[in-house]
Amino acid sequence: MYYRAKNLAINNGRTYHVAAILRRRGDVIKIGENTDKTHPRFKRQYDDGTWASHMHAEMNVLRFAIPGDEIEVMRFSACGDHITMAKPCRLCEAEIKKSGIRKVRYTNWNGDWEVMIFDK
Ligand SMILES: [Zn+2]
Repeated sequence: MYYRAKNLAINNGRTYHVAAILRRRGDVIKIGENTDKTHPRFKRQYDDGTWASHMHAEMNVLRFAIPGDEIEVMRFSACGDHITMAKPCRLCEAEIKKSGIRKVRYTNWNGDWEVMIFDK
């Protein structure tokens, strides 16, 4: 399963290779990668008025989330041989909270898992 996530992320054609896994009671519901495509719900406008033309991996799976789900985010180096920092950015973090997700696991610079818990 992590292998599938990795394949998606590595082949996404982007500089960053991030995969997010949406889990419901331990089951994998959806695996998403960061892409060039965006989704209307997550359209973002920068301060200078331009629109963001990409979607983070977390956003990619959030559409399928229900409250109580968990998300795992992992980032792979360009060559795919190691795992690195994948902490959700502030925008993703806000959207994750809004979706009712209470627990996020993400990989840190050492490739280890860290956990983020959101209180209600
Ligand atoms: Zn983000």
